[in-house]
Amino acid sequence: MAPTQDQVTAALATVNDPEIRRPITDLDMVKSVDIADDGAVRVDIFLTVAGCPLKDKITSDVTNAVSALDGVTSVKVVLDVMSQEQRKDLQTKLRGNRAPEKEIPFNQPGSLTRIFAVASGKGGVGKSSVTVNLAAAMAASGLKVGVVDADIYGHSIPRMLGAAERPTKVEDMIMPPVAHDIKVISVGMFKPEGNSAVVWRGPMLDRALHQFLADVYWGDLDVLLLDLPPGTGDIAISVAQRLPGAEILVVTTPQQAAAEVAERAGSIAAQTHQQIAGVIENMSWLPCPHCDERISVFGEGGGQSVADALTRTLGTRVPLLGQVPIDLRLREGGDEGKPLVLSDPESPAAAELLNIAAGLSKRNSSMKGLQLGLSPAGR
Ligand code: ADP
Repeated sequence: MAPTQDQVTAALATVNDPEIRRPITDLDMVKSVDIADDGAVRVDIFLTVAGCPLKDKITSDVTNAVSALDGVTSVKVVLDVMSQEQRKDLQTKLRGNRAPEKEIPFNQPGSLTRIFAVASGKGGVGKSSVTVNLAAAMAASGLKVGVVDADIYGHSIPRMLGAAERPTKVEDMIMPPVAHDIKVISVGMFKPEGNSAVVWRGPMLDRALHQFLADVYWGDLDVLLLDLPPGTGDIAISVAQRLPGAEILVVTTPQQAAAEVAERAGSIAAQTHQQIAGVIENMSWLPCPHCDERISVFGEGGGQSVADALTRTLGTRVPLLGQVPIDLRLREGGDEGKPLVLSDPESPAAAELLNIAAGLSKRNSSMKGLQLGLSPAGR
């Protein structure tokens, strides 16, 4: 016996749009369903945009879901593209009927998203590596996590997470690529093609940051991590203004010289009245390959001295959250788009990062099950 229309619809309701991550049935993406007497099913799907990079995934997810029904003999998926008007409707549905002028959802009253801005004094201390590994650790623990790569000089986050594609646009809403269950947006994705020498100046950066925060469909995130450019530049000030609730995480190496610049980056929080969640020391030591000894490649004590100095400057305790050893696999994981905390969670560097992530996540209950302003209206 061929399945009923209701059965097929119920099966389709289990398929999420890979970008928006809501059932395709909720998003009006199912155009039609035809069921022949012999059990052959044809499903017509509306994609949000023609070049939808994830159309193969939608096709296979729909095929798998419908094939699993009793009585189905074959599944054919036909793709179509939404009209301008349908996209507008979808946008309204996703945003609710909020005023069209862009608000940053994380600043809405009732937003439970915790925001961490990851800062460092100088480049190369592992700020981006720490960001992706914390994000991956939190996502693996079941939190909904987004990452904004605002490091205009480095923008290495997409590569480190293996999220290289460009984001899809639905009208003026940007769908962030998803990698390892993390929504990722990077300045690198918005550079005009072939113009690698774009000079990002203060106002332009500020606009870009606002766009990342307001135009991107983040959904109801538990945690948003921002990878800031090194130093105390314009973007740190923008973040403070755009996201007053963001807490700063300072990454440094054990080296005293690095620690001093990290401290300067952190002490900007005193002027902007932001909280500092803590200090993470990276590249703390190299485990000797032959014995258990720790080789202090970059000296010792930088993390603790930054934490102590910031505690003095701010007048509140700034903790040293952890010390991450040097591990070649951490770099390799970054180069291959697989964070170490996922590929080798037992390794000492990953264990430390997982521990730091757990500590940071614990301080606020997850907002799982709660809805933000960006959820489909009427739910
Ligand atoms: P930043 O964002 O501060 O510029 P990155 O995260 O890009 O720094 O790190 C710089 C380089 O150091 C990268 O190649 C990265 O893979 C490597 N790296 C970072 N942390 C470690 C670590 N703990 N062990 C080994 N390599 C690391």
